[in-house]
Amino acid sequence: MTGKTRQVIIGNSGAGLSALKAIRQIDADCPITVITDQTERAYSPVLTTYYIAGKVPREKLFITDGAFYSDLGVDLVAGKRAEAVDTASQKVVLEDGSKIDYDNLLIATGASAKKLSIPGGDLPQVRTLRTLEDAEAISDLAQKGVKDIVVLGAGLVSLQTADAVYAEGMNLTFLVGSNQVLSQNVDKSCAEIVKAQLESKKAVIHFGTDAEAIEENKGRAVVVSKTGEKYPADVVIVGKGVDPNVQPAQEGGIAVNRGILVDEYMRAGSPNVYAAGDVAEGPSFHTGQPEVMATWYNACNQGRIAGMNMAGKEEPFIGGLNRNITSVFDTTVASVGAVKRLEGGDAEEIVIDRAAEGIYRKLLLQDDVVQGAVLMGRINDAGMALNLIQKRVKISPRREMPDKSLMDLRRVYCAGVNPSA
Ligand SMILES: Cc1cc2nc3c(=O)[nH]c(=O)nc-3n(C[C@H](O)[C@H](O)[C@H](O)COP(=O)(O)OP(=O)(O)OC[C@H]3O[C@@H](n4cnc5c(N)ncnc54)[C@H](O)[C@@H]3O)c2cc1C
Repeated sequence: MTGKTRQVIIGNSGAGLSALKAIRQIDADCPITVITDQTERAYSPVLTTYYIAGKVPREKLFITDGAFYSDLGVDLVAGKRAEAVDTASQKVVLEDGSKIDYDNLLIATGASAKKLSIPGGDLPQVRTLRTLEDAEAISDLAQKGVKDIVVLGAGLVSLQTADAVYAEGMNLTFLVGSNQVLSQNVDKSCAEIVKAQLESKKAVIHFGTDAEAIEENKGRAVVVSKTGEKYPADVVIVGKGVDPNVQPAQEGGIAVNRGILVDEYMRAGSPNVYAAGDVAEGPSFHTGQPEVMATWYNACNQGRIAGMNMAGKEEPFIGGLNRNITSVFDTTVASVGAVKRLEGGDAEEIVIDRAAEGIYRKLLLQDDVVQGAVLMGRINDAGMALNLIQKRVKISPRREMPDKSLMDLRRVYCAGVNPSA
């Protein structure tokens, strides 16, 4: 025991690594321990679909190297699962029964892909994508030869995974419970353009339905829908969202709803315990209500804020905010902030819809304050949209944004955020 604050982090990804860097920037020599159940080096889950598609080599997935931890004076405990947090004695209990003492603890255990709990949901052809191991299993299936892909759900991860496996000539079928693709990321009009793009690749999309069971027939899967249709598949991609990995917190009696409940300083409901990233449920930027915001951007920001507070620099988080840029099936979409009308206030939507040119731009305002943007086609000003939202800039849309200038948010940005830009 050095007399210095012992900082312990469970999780070795976006949130955990951002926290450790923030702690080290403030405190050059406090002891930091990172616990991870992974044996691999830290990698970016965001890049795994590019790896499956063969666009990014395996080595490029990794975001740390062997020297990273020693250079920062961090003790890495790898390949060991944290089972529980003993909040009374301030210890993390690992799967082998060993214990690690903490003065401050960050739980950054992320989330796991929701599994299918229907008959046949555990067949080898049925795959979720969250980890590098998952990516390798999908890659192996793809290499065996794929003719038919069935995708359950049409969220960001399922579309990206389908895109990674798909090649011309394959049959691609989506069973989607909701009534639009990318329902968490874009509004209905933009979703219609993405849908048309998918259909141009001969994808068949069934809305308002789901799989009831999956059978096996001569080494292939057969997805049986709720309405009794059967869809043969060499690979079934399951994209049903994620469950935050709350178990170690739950075992320690730390307050959990869907995720670990945290305040704006990322403090959980137990002394000296913090949570950040996909496992945390913290105040939303728009509503202030607790929300799990499972994105890389949010995880890194929350991790950084948690780290600063753990190191004694009191810093509040501005709140969970959506920010996503993705390219799927030759379509690039950026969504920033709210994508659908928020409750209350004087809401206004300004839309440019040139679907034939692959251009869709929407700004969502409430009482003249920019709340969100959906940009398709040209997305290079998504960062400016994020700035407008974060700074809660009040603009006069009709004066500063006649329809023509909406094609370029620079004008709004100059007027509202940075006059010298
Ligand atoms: C295919 C794919 C594409 C994505 N695309 C995007 C995108 O385009 N944009 C975007 O913003 N987000 C995207 N995401 C989401 C993004 O990857 C996550 O939001 C982000 O990784 C969350 O970071 P995290 O640090 O909170 O958790 P994770 O990245 O899940 O890391 C959790 C860490 O905790 C460790 N861990 C978990 N439980 C334990 C335990 N009990 N004991 C010890 N260690 C444990 C894990 O091994 C891991 O190191 C994508 C995700 C996937 C899978």
